[in-house]
Amino acid sequence: MINLDDPTKFRPLVGQAHQVAMNMLRPISRKYDRAEHEYPKELDMLAAMIDGLSESGASEGAGATGVRRDEAGEDKEGVKNGTNLASVMSIAEMGWGDVGLLLSMPRQGLGNSAIASVADEGQHQRFDGLWASMAITEPGTGSDSASIRTTARLDGDDYVLNGEKIFVTSGDRCDAVVVWATLDKELGRPAIKSFVVPKGTPGMNVERLEHKLGIRASDTATIRFEDCRVPAENLLGSPEVDAKQGFAGAMATFDNTRPLVAAMAVGCARAALDLTRELLEQGGVLIDYDRPAITQSAAAAKFLQMEADWEAAHLLMLQAAWMADNRKPNSLEASMAKAKAGRVGSDITLSCVELVGSVGYSEAELLEKWARDSKILDIFEGTQQIQQLIVARRILGLSSAELK
Ligand SMILES: Cc1cc2nc3c(=O)[nH]c(=O)nc-3n(C[C@H](O)[C@H](O)[C@H](O)COP(=O)(O)OP(=O)(O)OC[C@H]3O[C@@H](n4cnc5c(N)ncnc54)[C@H](O)[C@@H]3O)c2cc1C
Repeated sequence: MINLDDPTKFRPLVGQAHQVAMNMLRPISRKYDRAEHEYPKELDMLAAMIDGLSESGASEGAGATGVRRDEAGEDKEGVKNGTNLASVMSIAEMGWGDVGLLLSMPRQGLGNSAIASVADEGQHQRFDGLWASMAITEPGTGSDSASIRTTARLDGDDYVLNGEKIFVTSGDRCDAVVVWATLDKELGRPAIKSFVVPKGTPGMNVERLEHKLGIRASDTATIRFEDCRVPAENLLGSPEVDAKQGFAGAMATFDNTRPLVAAMAVGCARAALDLTRELLEQGGVLIDYDRPAITQSAAAAKFLQMEADWEAAHLLMLQAAWMADNRKPNSLEASMAKAKAGRVGSDITLSCVELVGSVGYSEAELLEKWARDSKILDIFEGTQQIQQLIVARRILGLSSAELK
């Protein structure tokens, strides 16, 4: 196993995130798994605490809004450990606590990351402090986000949105939704833009909430837009339909958000490994890191193999975030991190259930919950198959038209 030291300046932050996960998220984890759709009111206090840390600078800029690629790319040593790295490291800790609750944290939505990634300075100021969800998926379109059908028509100083979005995480509780819509279906990908639509805007209605396998503390909404008017200045990025830049701009958000989802998977899998090791030890199975797996019991060998997989995901997550901090193009690494962490996150949590038998399957422990929670991390923000497709395209130098 490789034991990388955390950057010294992030140790207090990571330690605090771990304390919050252990003392504030874990104790209410089962409660909100059972009480689906009930707002976890305890998170308000936590969000206020995070805001305070953020204002004081103690949070190192971590969180959904910390994924902006700032201008100062390098420090004296030529590299820097910045807000992207701080974000993945603290999110992994919070994911160790509870992924569903983490996804329900006010002002930490994926829409916040989108705003942080592509908004201009004026928009940053206007949307500061909002809790923003992200609405891309539609009834007819999931993985193929280039074929979304929600439209945005310019009318005077407003865009008028029409369409339906499904599976919007925090879509009910958020203050605003970042909606992907096309300016002109005929123009394909470059015409797709994102719009910040504040809650309460006439024409935007939450139609229903999903009942789900996992992350039940997080609300997942269907939202309909009917002649919904938003000011033209709520379009994020450039309104120009540029054949070269258009979709690439919107997709760039994912280079920043995929490492965050990888971090959630890394955190959830770590939780399962930590508890499983404890339970195995109670059952007399000791894991010896200094002896080859083949010379140990089958359970210990399986555990060591899972730790190796976890470590690979962890390292890929760190690499993708570190590259973003240092303004290096990281689409390939962000997708590799998401693919690896999403896949091994599911494998590890389910294998942990298996390793400890009936204790793992029962509600006496949180292992069965983590196995349910982790599956979504291999689905949203691009499924396992889509990440592999992106990785293959990048490595082979093929376009999306050439490799589908
Ligand atoms: C709990 C939850 C929360 C979500 N939150 C959000 C959110 O906040 N915002 C949002 O916009 N969306 C959200 N989603 C939607 C999620 O991003 C989509 O479900 C996901 O992108 C997959 O889309 P789909 O369900 O339409 O599946 P499809 O795209 O229909 O895919 C079905 C299967 O086919 C595979 N597949 C598709 N295309 C290919 C290909 N070219 N090659 C190989 N295999 C392929 C997929 O990997 C998948 O296994 C959420 C979903 C869930 C369940």
